[in-house]
Amino acid sequence: MRVRTRFAPSPTGYLHVGGARTALFCYLHARKHGGQFVLRIEDTDLERSTAESVNAILEGMTWLGLDYDEGPFYQTERFERYNAVIEELMAKGLAYRCDCPKERLDKLRVDQKARRLKPRYDGRCRNRQVDPETPHVIRFKNPVDGVVVVDDLIRGKVPFNNEELDDLILRRTDGTPTYNLTVVVDDADMAISHVIRGDDHLNNTPRQINILRALGHEPPRYAHVPMILGDDGARLSKRHGAVSVISFRDQGYLPEALLNYLVRLGWSHGDQELFSIEEMIECFEIGDVNRAASTFNHDKLDWVNQQYLQHADPARIARLLSPHMGRLDIDPSTGPDLVEVVKAQAARAKTLAELAEISAFCYRDFETFDESSAKKHLRPIARESLERLASAFELMAYEDWTPEELKRVVERVAEELEVNLGKVAQPLRVAIVGRAASPGIDETLMLVGKEATLRRIGKALDFIAAREAGA
Ligand code: GLU
Repeated sequence: MRVRTRFAPSPTGYLHVGGARTALFCYLHARKHGGQFVLRIEDTDLERSTAESVNAILEGMTWLGLDYDEGPFYQTERFERYNAVIEELMAKGLAYRCDCPKERLDKLRVDQKARRLKPRYDGRCRNRQVDPETPHVIRFKNPVDGVVVVDDLIRGKVPFNNEELDDLILRRTDGTPTYNLTVVVDDADMAISHVIRGDDHLNNTPRQINILRALGHEPPRYAHVPMILGDDGARLSKRHGAVSVISFRDQGYLPEALLNYLVRLGWSHGDQELFSIEEMIECFEIGDVNRAASTFNHDKLDWVNQQYLQHADPARIARLLSPHMGRLDIDPSTGPDLVEVVKAQAARAKTLAELAEISAFCYRDFETFDESSAKKHLRPIARESLERLASAFELMAYEDWTPEELKRVVERVAEELEVNLGKVAQPLRVAIVGRAASPGIDETLMLVGKEATLRRIGKALDFIAAREAGA
């Protein structure tokens, strides 16, 4: 069988991480089996579909690197085809016109509910001749008995009794085709072999199988992927924080880290945590996806992102970091080479946004010292070492401002004062970074540069003096 999968989002909002995970599974399954991955935009809901949302979906797919082989196909461009299929079903006697007024259908529903029956159309128009000129919908003649079994790759066999399925509407009064009809026509026309989608569609599947069979098609294989939940057990949504793929990009997650996090959500391969795309393609099995819903864990995503930030090519990270520096009003061309900053700092940040924040000190003076760092390290006892450091730095030529030389100076001051290196380096670090955490002191001095170092030591000495006067 030629493997062909499709991702079929409705463009009614952003690309949600749950959708991205479904797209990833479709992509991996196709790639693993040397098949094709199709992108289809299900934009038949004219009121809710927007061009912005289509763009957001395409942008998200591109950013994630989920390349599709065919598409995007737009359902709104295929109305003629859907109508032809509806006519075909009519001609075969497998669909019929229904002009039941809304009032009748409402009353039917109320009566059925009162009798504790599942609300469904009673088939009144099945054998009536409805005048094509009067307003009407077209309904599918669902089989009245028997069982449809959805043989799901994740869920196993799920049986549905036909008597519980409605004669669903294929074409609305306004002439537009409905979701179940368009999906079926497209899955058949696009020769989709595996429908991998969210399990909120499981109830649609027996209906779609019935329509496919009515059209003489063998249904594809189905895999219904469980939902992603927020930490309160409810379906992951905006309430739980940002959920759109683009917002993860904007917060500074790397696409490969987000994909890696998503593939592990409800799927595992031994105890391996990190997978390159190639490894995902090799190891991923759709049938191994967990049946139970999984919970989105931001801490785990941060951990995965940090791993990738640390090991990715620093030049690439620097390119991606640049706009995040821009958001802090920093132009990286005005200071040290951003690639060097990345090399020194990447292991310390969970996201690019955080990396930008903790690297701002390389480009501009900070406003205030971190309170607890200053309390601990900018004390009168540090004055002498800071003064000695300032004098030594002052005398250094610009070309000597290298990590080796700087390290020597700091070590020498510690020796002169007969204290260990930390006693000198920590106050110095707080003086030039604003807080007690930074890369090695030599690298930090290198990144900050001579002028800013001297200026900031001066400020730290003022701070100590003020503190002493106040105490
Ligand atoms: N367009 C549907 C949705 O966004 C998906 C349909 C499908 O995968 O069959 O929920």
